[in-house]
Amino acid sequence: MSRFLSTVAKRTEPYIPGEQLNQPDIIKLNTNENPYPPSPKVLEAIKAQVEENSLQLYPSPTADPLRHAIAETYGLTKEQVFVGNGSDEVLAFAFMAFFEPGKTIRFPEISYSFYPVYSKIFDISFEKVPLQEDFTLPAEAFYQSEGGVILPNPNAPTSLYATLDVIEEILKQNSDQMVIIDEAYIDFAGPSAVKLIDRYDNLLVIQTTSKSRALAGLRVGFAMGQPELIDGLTRIKDSFNSYPIDRLAMAGATAAFQDHAYFSESTKKIIRTRERSAQSLRELGFEVLPSDANFLFAKPLNQDAHTLYEQLKERGILVRHFDQAGISDYLRITIGTEEQMEMLFTVLNELIK
Ligand SMILES: *Cc1c(COP(=O)(O)O)cnc(C)c1O
Repeated sequence: MSRFLSTVAKRTEPYIPGEQLNQPDIIKLNTNENPYPPSPKVLEAIKAQVEENSLQLYPSPTADPLRHAIAETYGLTKEQVFVGNGSDEVLAFAFMAFFEPGKTIRFPEISYSFYPVYSKIFDISFEKVPLQEDFTLPAEAFYQSEGGVILPNPNAPTSLYATLDVIEEILKQNSDQMVIIDEAYIDFAGPSAVKLIDRYDNLLVIQTTSKSRALAGLRVGFAMGQPELIDGLTRIKDSFNSYPIDRLAMAGATAAFQDHAYFSESTKKIIRTRERSAQSLRELGFEVLPSDANFLFAKPLNQDAHTLYEQLKERGILVRHFDQAGISDYLRITIGTEEQMEMLFTVLNELIK
């Protein structure tokens, strides 16, 4: 580590991204990307943007076309929508805008690995709340937090969805603190907390185009909340980078929100594959959590999960194993195409026999 690093830089930990193997025929079920391409209208919009030949000009600093398209999709106004370079960036801005150093925030012990990372860089103390034995959320444990709450719904990597009455109670019991709901997988689950925005000034809902809209490569995330919260995020953003959404990303993501039919069709297809895959895994003797996401969290019964992960990898199938207390017996398997899942089950059948 360089002796020139600041104390802030020194307290960060190197990020280890999901494996990206360089084999072309690898079946990649490890980072919860969408197995299908984005809507063809996305590609047309990006091509049209290229042909407009205006990359020498800065994009809109307020990202109006995209915020407008998101607002229309969710029945909001664009003043209730913030957009950023991936929801990871939006999350980082939200930590900075709404959590206070010295006031302890809470998030689930088993949850998105970025929360402790952001907490450390912004010097925010945190409490990891243990999940119940069945991995569901112990709602009461989030009541009356000192500094606020952040949780993914559905949770990752457990795939479990908490109903809106649970979320609403957490909001009510933290009326003077922010509650941030990270809805990266919500389109594969039940209703979004977006419908609570008008009633709770302490609610920020963060979503991404990386999963359900198949745009992980374009880097567009967004947050929804009351206009004062959006203004808070904008202040932070403008102090870093006024143009996080480039012209190509703006054109592509806007088109993605305008193509409702494609989105709903491909999301339904993934949910159907998920249900069939969960059933197949259970038949193979796995314990499978009831998923409301685009991945399954499953425990092989008579096998070591890490060994199975290695064996799958040797055969060109990448899944995710977490070497972490409480979940090291499980594998997280992204839902691929029907064909990819058939390949997975062919290999699993051989390995488990
Ligand atoms: C994938 C994911 C994100 C980040 O998504 P990007 O928009 O690609 O940065 C955030 N939160 C959770 C829980 C995720 O799984």
